[in-house]
Amino acid sequence: MKYKSIIGLEIHTQLKTKTKAFCNCKVEFGQKPNTNICPVCMGHPGSLPVVNEKMIEYALLLGRATNSKINDKTKFDRKNYFYPDIPKNYQITQYDYPICYDGNIKILLEDNNMKDIGITRIHMEEDTGKVFHDKDDNNSLIDYNRAGVPLLEIVTEPDLRTPSEAYKFLNELKSILRYLDISDANMEKGELRVDVNVSVMKKEDEEFGTKVELKNMNSFKAVKKALEYEIDRQIELIKKGKKEKIKQETRMWLEDKEKTKIMRTKEEAADYRYFPEPDIPAFHINNDIIEKIENIDFELPLQKRQRFSKEYNLSDYDSSILTSEIDLAHYFEKVLEKFDDGKAAANWIINELLNLMNEDGKEIKEIDVTPQKLASILKLIDQDKISGKIGKKLLKEVYNSGKKPEDIVDEKGWSQVSDSDELENIIKEVLEENNDAVERYKNGEDKLFGFFMGQIMKKTKGKANPKKTNQLLRKLLKNQ
Ligand code: ADP
Ligand code: ZN
Ligand code: MG
Repeated sequence: MKYKSIIGLEIHTQLKTKTKAFCNCKVEFGQKPNTNICPVCMGHPGSLPVVNEKMIEYALLLGRATNSKINDKTKFDRKNYFYPDIPKNYQITQYDYPICYDGNIKILLEDNNMKDIGITRIHMEEDTGKVFHDKDDNNSLIDYNRAGVPLLEIVTEPDLRTPSEAYKFLNELKSILRYLDISDANMEKGELRVDVNVSVMKKEDEEFGTKVELKNMNSFKAVKKALEYEIDRQIELIKKGKKEKIKQETRMWLEDKEKTKIMRTKEEAADYRYFPEPDIPAFHINNDIIEKIENIDFELPLQKRQRFSKEYNLSDYDSSILTSEIDLAHYFEKVLEKFDDGKAAANWIINELLNLMNEDGKEIKEIDVTPQKLASILKLIDQDKISGKIGKKLLKEVYNSGKKPEDIVDEKGWSQVSDSDELENIIKEVLEENNDAVERYKNGEDKLFGFFMGQIMKKTKGKANPKKTNQLLRKLLKNQ
């Protein structure tokens, strides 16, 4: 490949504060349109904004988690533009003194190396209302309930090199936001939005190419697909000698057509005529708040991942799955309070439990298999009371019914036959019923061993302890 792509992201994420950024309206969704508003978030004359302290704390928390610097002195600015979703005709945001800057987030690459992605800045701003063009045949409709909800904007350096790195970065950021419990960061629900900047250059070039901005993706997967398409488009233009056709513009991702389409040429900062918000004077962040944030105890996804790998001897892949959601990580560690084989627990959670959850779209918090119940199942297997195969059936039963594993085993008679006398009787029966096969086995047809095992399993409905059966069968065949 002669070309490489350069990617930088601008992410907006909704904060889970109780109230909006500059007024007392609640941050709640799903109410009747235009009921969760007040003179402040609607910009009525004479109303004044008051900064929500929680928004500052959340911004500082993310700053700490991304090793960012804190702007000791910070301020808000007005970004002016006219569009119906913005009731005031300006958005309160931060321009030249973002609360945090110069940080980084580490991502785990395929080759197991870590890569630092620079965070240029993190700043606070208010969300807009929502315009609906498709709910009414003749009119566009507007709901201002979302106007004034606090957002953090996170801008990365152009450090990402491939669509898959961008995808990993977004997952890592989402995971961090959820660990800190400051945003649910669900892109499908519009809680997190991503603008993508991408350019292409020849490997030997010294300067980045012209960047294009992509909008309108509604999942991380869509971001990846949009990037793949756009990178191809730009490379094709360069190959054809039409480099000048790559313009600094905003393009829209069309999910159904799987391509990007021009939306508008890029506006410049000057077009917004930013100026300091006159109703909120520049301010210093109080030391008490900074101290409070520094004293909060948390373990980030990356730290947890490294600890899991080391402490429980898991592969990086397994650890990264188990730590992707904080609730899942807690679940795993709760199982280990009752059952101490970390590797087995990880396998069962990743390969069995998560599959069941995927099938009906449930999250770990919503399921009836408590960590204690999973631990009980694992113990039953570990103590040879049930086979691994029955274990899977048992997990499914517990998942569907919420009953205690031990009760289900009793009810269904799933206890493994491990008793030597009982097993010996069953094996003898099978051998007697298959005299022919026994003769052939003795004459060298070794593969019939599997056939006998199969017959024994059939007779016991899969409940014969495989290891013991194997040993006993060998012994009895020798004596034949
Ligand atoms: P603008 O002035 O157009 O807002 P910025 O320099 O502020 O541009 O960068 C905005 C975003 O675009 C950042 O995420 C940055 O990393 C990214 N970016 C900047 N230059 C490039 C480039 N040549 N190719 C891809 N992304 C870029
Ligand atoms: Zn309000
Ligand atoms: Mg910029």
